Amino acid sequence: MANDASTVFDLVILGGGSGGYAAALRAAQLGLDVALIEKNKLGGTCLHQGCIPTKALLHAGEIADQARESEQFGVKATFEGIDIAAVLKYKDDVISGLYKGLQGLVASRKVTYIEGEGRLSSPTSVDVNGQRIEGRHVLLATGSVPRSLPGLTIDGNRIISSDHALVLDRVPKSAIILGGGVIGVEFASAWKSFGTDVTIVEGLPHLVPVEDENSSKLLERAFRKRGIKFNLGTFFQSAEYTADGVKVTLADGKTFEGEVLLVAIGRGPVSQNLGYEEQGVAMDRGYVLVDEFMRTNVPTISAVGDLVPTLQLAHVGFAEGILVAERLAGLKTVPIDYDGVPRVTYCHPEVASVGVTEAKAKELYGADKVVTLKYNLAGNGRSKILKTSGEVKLVQVRDGAVVGVHMVGDRMGEQVGEAQLIYNWEALPTEVAQLIHAHPTQSEALGEAHLALAGKPLHSHD
Ligand SMILES: Cc1cc2nc3c(=O)[nH]c(=O)nc-3n(C[C@H](O)[C@H](O)[C@H](O)COP(=O)(O)OP(=O)(O)OC[C@H]3O[C@@H](n4cnc5c(N)ncnc54)[C@H](O)[C@@H]3O)c2cc1C
Repeated sequence: MANDASTVFDLVILGGGSGGYAAALRAAQLGLDVALIEKNKLGGTCLHQGCIPTKALLHAGEIADQARESEQFGVKATFEGIDIAAVLKYKDDVISGLYKGLQGLVASRKVTYIEGEGRLSSPTSVDVNGQRIEGRHVLLATGSVPRSLPGLTIDGNRIISSDHALVLDRVPKSAIILGGGVIGVEFASAWKSFGTDVTIVEGLPHLVPVEDENSSKLLERAFRKRGIKFNLGTFFQSAEYTADGVKVTLADGKTFEGEVLLVAIGRGPVSQNLGYEEQGVAMDRGYVLVDEFMRTNVPTISAVGDLVPTLQLAHVGFAEGILVAERLAGLKTVPIDYDGVPRVTYCHPEVASVGVTEAKAKELYGADKVVTLKYNLAGNGRSKILKTSGEVKLVQVRDGAVVGVHMVGDRMGEQVGEAQLIYNWEALPTEVAQLIHAHPTQSEALGEAHLALAGKPLHSHD
C-alpha cells in the first residue's frame, strides 16, 4: 500500500466493480488522490460473474447453432458437441485479458489499490486490513449478489445461482430456470444452444417483463420455435430434490423437473454489516438511498451501482461513478436520465430498447397522444441474409419526439447506440428519416421505421 497513516485521500472507494472503478479512473484523471478498496477481484460482477462471461457463453452457443444450421446456408459442417472445458477456458481467457488490462489502467492512473475487505468506520473513513483509510469523501460501491427466496437454499450443485452456472463443468441435460428476466433468458438461450432441455418459470405474465409487451411476445415466439419451454403467470412455491435432480412446484400445483435449478430471480445489494447504518446512511431494504447526484444523506458519502436502487447495469454503474468523480472535482454535472439508458438482453434473438414502453408512454402523455409504429425485419435485407426475424417498434408522442425504441432480432443489440441518440436527442421522426442508413445493414431497419413514422415508408407497406 502506497499511503502512510497520515495520508488523507480526496476519495476513498469501497468496491472495485463497474461503479467503483469508473469513479476511481475518472477521479484520478481529474487530479484527485484516490484509494480503491476491493476484497475480491478488480472489475467486480460485470467482468468476473456477469456481463462478460455470460456473453462469452452466448457466443459459444451461437457458434454451436451456426454449426447445426450451416446447411441452410449451403455450408457443410457437422456439430459434434460442446467441449465445456474448452468453452470455460475460452470464457476465462476473455476475462483474464480484460482483467489484466483493467489492472494496468488502474495502476497507470496512480490509483492506490488496496486488496482487502473494507468496512465504513466513520463518515470519512474505511477500515481495511487493520488500517484506517481516511478520505475527504467516501464512495460506497459494494454492488450486489444473487438473491434467493425464503426456503430455497442455493447449494451450488443442483440448485444454483448465475455465479455457479458460469463455472459449471458440465452441460446439464435439463434445467429449470426460475425467473424470466435478463439473466434467466440469457442462460436459457445459451444452455439451449449447448443442448440442454430448458424450462423457464416466470411468475409475471411475460418473459423479460420490464420490456415493451411487444418485445416480450416476439421473444416468446422465438423461444417457442427454438424449443425453449416456459411457464408464465404462476409463482414458484417449493423445490425438492429428486433422485437425480430437482422438482419445482408452482403455486397452482404444476410441477417441473430438471437436473439443475437455476435461481435467477434478481440480485440484492451488498450492504449488511459494512457499517453503513451505524454511520447514519439512509437505506431501504438494503439499498443505499441517494439523490440524483448520487449523494447519500451523509454529506461526505456517495453511493453508486447495484448498491443503489437504480437500473442494475454495468454502464449505469460507470455513468454514476463518473458523475460522482466529476462532482467531487468541481465539474458541472447533470442527473442521469434512466429512461435514456440503453438496455440489451443478449439472448438469441436479442432484445434491445431505450426510452419508455408504449404502456408507460400512455401513462406519461395520455393514450390519445401516443403513436406507435412497427417495422418488421422481414423487409430488412441484412436480417434476411442472417435469417433472423423480429421487429423495430417506435413509440412517439404525437407530432413530437420518439420516446421509445424497442427492437428484437439477432444482433439488434448493436443498433441500440443509434436508438439511444434518437431518444436522448429527442429526435423527431422526420429528422431521423433525413439520415441515410448504409445498405444492407440492420441499422436500415431503424431508418426505415422512422421513414414510415414520418409518413414516407420505403420498404414497407403504407
Ligand atoms: C449473470 C449476469 C449478467 C449480467 N450481464 C450484464 C450485461 O450484459 N450488461 C450490463 O450492463 N450488466 C450486466 N450485469 C449487471 C452488472 O454486472 C452489474 O450491474 C454491475 O457489475 C454492477 O456494478 P457495481 O460496481 O455496482 O457492483 P459489482 O460489480 O458487484 O462490484 C462490487 C464490488 O465490491 C466488492 N466488495 C463488496 N463488499 C466489499 C467490501 N466490504 N470490501 C471490499 N470490496 C467489497 C465486490 O467484491 C465487488 O467486486 C449482469 C449481471 C449478472 C449477474
